[in-house]
Amino acid sequence: MPTCNSCSDLHGRPASTQLCEMALLGVGELRGVPAVEHYRCVACGSSFSRVLIGASCDCIWQSLDRRCSGEDRAGSPAARTDGFNSQEAGGTA
Ligand SMILES: [Zn+2]
Repeated sequence: MPTCNSCSDLHGRPASTQLCEMALLGVGELRGVPAVEHYRCVACGSSFSRVLIGASCDCIWQSLDRRCSGEDRAGSPAARTDGFNSQEAGGTA
């Protein structure tokens, strides 16, 4: 089944992005706090996870179907995370 327009555009969007028709499959909790929600698109059947906690840059929609393709992650700034961390650690006196 081809990915519908809304799903093909959803990966990497902020978790606050509102959707048209998504069925909530389940919620993962961390210490009693909802940490991630799993959704399935009723239109095309694509599966997504919505990260709810962590740094703001981590709270995004992630496609579970395209995880292995890497096509959207090639230009991701996530690779710079290590640089930011070491920079902060070094600046701490
Ligand atoms: Zn869809």
